[in-house]
Amino acid sequence: MTMRGLRFPLLAVVTGATALAAACTAKPGSATSATSATSATSATAAAPRLDGAALPAIDSTRLIGDLFRLADDSMAGRATGTPENAKARAWLVGEFRRIGLAPPGGGYEQPIAFQRREGADSTRGANVLGLVRGTRDPARVIVVSAHFDHVGVRNGEIFNGADDNASGTAAVLAMAAYFRAHPPQHTLLFALWDAEEMGLQGARWFVAHPPVPLASIVANVNLDMVSRNVADELYAAGAAPYPQMRPLLEALEGRAAVTLRLGHDTGSGSENWTDQSDQGAFHAARIPFVYFGVEDHPDYHRPTDDPSRIQPGFYYRAVRTIASLVQALDVAVSDWGAR
Ligand SMILES: [Zn+2]
Repeated sequence: MTMRGLRFPLLAVVTGATALAAACTAKPGSATSATSATSATSATAAAPRLDGAALPAIDSTRLIGDLFRLADDSMAGRATGTPENAKARAWLVGEFRRIGLAPPGGGYEQPIAFQRREGADSTRGANVLGLVRGTRDPARVIVVSAHFDHVGVRNGEIFNGADDNASGTAAVLAMAAYFRAHPPQHTLLFALWDAEEMGLQGARWFVAHPPVPLASIVANVNLDMVSRNVADELYAAGAAPYPQMRPLLEALEGRAAVTLRLGHDTGSGSENWTDQSDQGAFHAARIPFVYFGVEDHPDYHRPTDDPSRIQPGFYYRAVRTIASLVQALDVAVSDWGAR
């Protein structure tokens, strides 16, 4: 997520992917979930919602494990153009292959190149792309995405980017596995963008050089920072510029396993998130989007955005809620006319 005005309350700290994975499905009020995510914070923390029975089942241990792997110091903050970014990317390609996604025409990697400043040398990177073909109308494509890069090392400190955006990246892997096992009606193109932190470069390159006809892309669901919020709140932006998304999101509010808030998609300034992450590239091409993300927290774009600070219960329930939106969108776009 590119920079925006900072507002935030205090947060507790936890340790260890396994312990956290266990906290994913812990009942609210039990030792694991309470102590790990909310007890140290102020009385404002909302009780997590329980009703998620109808939501897609996600492998919580792998979800948390993947986030820890991507946000480990050994990935050195995954800055575009670095060996560690390439290492993260190679692992992600391996995961797409393991899950059984089909590579779009050009393969799992889509090389990108861009100039950061006038006259500067090209910066190179690559997006990671994979498909689950639709069973009923495969010619229509929904892009489900998240950026995997982060800002790297600054002044000798590693910015691990656990929430920004190892959380969205691991969530895309989890949803790819779910929909591989539960084939959708329309084709889902799972995309992990590079160089978001350098100006949405990976997503912009994709829209300018799409591996499928741009007109066949009916919607984008983009995730950026989805693993922690003391009020148990997840935002969904996009219903204002794309009213066809509103009934889907309002229905989702009723079955969400977190508190879903619609907004941050009108007006100007930092309160409008439309162009603050990769959905902005799709919006520029007038492709309807839904962006999922949380309000800023104290570790945003700081070296303290570490895996130990995510909230596993919230994260797990947020990902299941987002997967449920993708499921509903897959059904709904059948009735959408050509874009
Ligand atoms: Zn981000």
